[in-house]
This record gives sequence, structure tokens and C-alpha cells, in this order.
Amino acid sequence: MTDRRFPIWHPFTQHAIMPEMLKIERAEGAYLETPDGRQIFDGISSWWVVTHGHRQPDIIQAIKDQADKLDQVIFAGHTHTPAEEVADGLLSMTPDTLNHVFFSDSGSTCVEVALKMALGYWQHIGETRRTRIIVMENSYHGDTIGTMSVGERGVFNAPYDPLMFDVTSVPFPSSGVEDQTIERLEALCAAGDVAAFIVEPLVLGAGGMLMYSPDVLKRMKDVCEAHGVLFIADEVMVGWGRTGTLFACEQADVEPDIACYSKGITGGSMPLAVTLCRSEIFDAHYSEDRSKTFFHSSSYTANPIACAAAAANLRLWREGDVRDRIANLVAMQTRYLSRFSEDERFENIRQTGTIAALDLKARDEGYLSSVGPRLYEFFKARDLLLRPLGNTVYVMPPYCSTESDLDQVYDAIQAAADAFA
Ligand SMILES: *Cc1c(COP(=O)(O)O)cnc(C)c1O
Repeated sequence: MTDRRFPIWHPFTQHAIMPEMLKIERAEGAYLETPDGRQIFDGISSWWVVTHGHRQPDIIQAIKDQADKLDQVIFAGHTHTPAEEVADGLLSMTPDTLNHVFFSDSGSTCVEVALKMALGYWQHIGETRRTRIIVMENSYHGDTIGTMSVGERGVFNAPYDPLMFDVTSVPFPSSGVEDQTIERLEALCAAGDVAAFIVEPLVLGAGGMLMYSPDVLKRMKDVCEAHGVLFIADEVMVGWGRTGTLFACEQADVEPDIACYSKGITGGSMPLAVTLCRSEIFDAHYSEDRSKTFFHSSSYTANPIACAAAAANLRLWREGDVRDRIANLVAMQTRYLSRFSEDERFENIRQTGTIAALDLKARDEGYLSSVGPRLYEFFKARDLLLRPLGNTVYVMPPYCSTESDLDQVYDAIQAAADAFA
């Protein structure tokens, strides 16, 4: 039987239980608008990408101007001003250890690039034994085969297990057992066959908004450094101010060997990603021997319009008041979360920068917790876009959100607890 009801197959969507898609026609600031004029508060920044707000005027203008000049050009053997501006800007805003920028177009691809850079580095300098990747339990790095391989295994990727490569994981550094993470990492790194450790700094996003301290991040980096293991920071979600600072690694004084940025790099307006690396990694590929070329590209590598959007975003970071708005949002989140400190229906109330999360106690916890889809519908009926990860409700709004926006959100979370706890 051919079912033609779903010509579009949506991401992370079970069409059998969610037959209706909500149509969005416009967006402005922190709001999405439906064709019939419903205004919906975007409490998850449209899947963590929109930082300043939808249609930030400077970014939109940059996109329009660039569209009138150059739409697309092959990036092998060619360059253009928007890409050069983005690269210069990034290198001046990131640690001095990072000296080269490789463009791609999504979070998954910039992580794939990071893994390939790491493996290529060790192969090209002749340390061919270093092929093992260490990961952190509960991590998420994307949905391509390589990024699934370095992410948490489970219901999301079980069918593809035969295609995934082996990695070794360290436990998540929950409060009180951080030493176990460090000791395990130390033991693994000491074996001498490790190419890289990849980690989401400070907050594990899709794994359930799990948070750990800058101190642990710093200790993990120190272990890697002591054993010559490359440290890959996947800042795809936490970058661009989410944790309160431009990049999460800043809070731990950690200078990664490889860093991955995407999502908010264009303010959430266009798909773009970058992988930054140390000069040693570039140098290992720099050779008259063509077999050492970094063989990676995607058709739209460094698309000029996306780069123009990113360049405008970098200008906002350099010249605008984004840091003030972030500080304001951080303080509001703290204030609203404190409402729940005595509420026994919730647990693990937590915040890192602009990201707030809390777990609604449920009989079945975890991503497939049956309360997840019910919470989603409950919030949707109140014109709020919140998309709980199972029984974990999190609020990650654009930086232009106001007190009255958050009022609505947290009133709804309280009402949800009345309805479901
Ligand atoms: C979203 C995400 C990715 C994947 O990004 P896509 O653009 O969805 O491919 C990778 N790493 C982290 C930490 C993410 O949150």
C-alpha cells in the first residue's frame, strides 16, 4: 500500500503519532507566526540555532546585499571576501592555538571534518598507531555515520550499528564522581593508541541537557595534553553565547586543538559550519605529496551568502550589545528557575548560562518517556515552542527574549506539572 499522506518526511518525527505539521509563515525576534496569525514563542531558538532573534536586521541585510553580488562559487582553488572575513574574525576571537579554518555546512559535517583532521594528522606524521577516539557517555555529535559513532548508542542509532566504528567512552562527570571520569580518561590516554578525545564543553545537549563544571573541562584537557591526545571541542550547540561566554571553553581557559562551530554562527539564519585547528594539524597535511591533501569538501563549502550572514554575526559580536543581552537572559533564567527549587515534582534543576533545564519526575524517564510528546502538545496549545527531551524540559530562547516571554514559559511549565506530574 502506498501512503501518500506524507510526501515530506520530517526529521526526528514519528508521523504515526504526529500527523499534523505546524505551518510557519513568518518569524520575527523570538516569535514564529502561522498563516492564520498565531504568534508562537520560540523557546528553543528553532533547534538551538537562532541566537539574536529571527531576522536580525543586520544579518538579513548582509544576506540581501551578498545575494546581489555572488551567490555561489567553487571553494577549491577560489576564495571570496565573505569567507575571508569570517576566517579572520574567527581567528581573532578564538585562542591563539587555532590557526586555520575549514568550512562546511552543518554541525555534523564540521565534526566529521574534525575527526578526519585528527586521524589524518597522526597518519601523516607517522604515528599510525593513534587511531582510537575517546568520547563522553551521553554525547551527541550529529546523525551521520561518523558522528553517530562518536555519540551515545541507543534507540536513535541501533539499526545502523553494523556501520559504526568502535570508540571508547568515559563516564559522564556527574557531580561527586568527576574523579572517575578523569581517572578513566587518564588510563585510556596512557595506552598510547588514542588519536583524539571529542567532547561537548560544559553542556551535553541532545543527551539531555547534562551539565558539568569548567573545572572538569579543564582537567580533561590537561589529561589529553599530558598524553599528546588531540582535544576536540564540539561547540556546535554551546558556542555563540549559549553558556554565557562566546565559547564554552573560555570559562575553563581551555584552548582546544580542534574546535567545531555551527548552529549560531550565522545567528541562525543560514546553514554554515567551521572546523578550526592548530597549525601542526594543517602542517601535517601541507606537502608536495598530493596524497596528503585533506580530501574533504561539500558542494556548498563556504557558500558566500551564508558566509556573509556569519560575517554580519561576527560584527554583532564585536560591536553590538549581545553580551549585555546574554547577561540579562542569564539572570532572568536564574530567577525563574528558583521558582522550582522547592517543587518536589521536578528534579535536577540546572542552568549553564542562557540554558535552563529541569526534569519532570515521571514513571518512565529518558528520551522516550511517554510524557515528552504530551508536554510538547501541552506547550504548543499555549503557543509555546518547547520540545522536551523526554521528561527533561529545557528553555533555550533567543537573546532578545523578554521578562514577559519567560513569564509565559515558566507559568506553562508549572501548569504542565499540575497536569502531568
Ligand atoms: C546539533 C549538534 C550537532 C549536529 O549539528 P547539525 O547541524 O544538526 O548536523 C553536533 N554536535 C552538537 C553538540 C550538536 O548539538
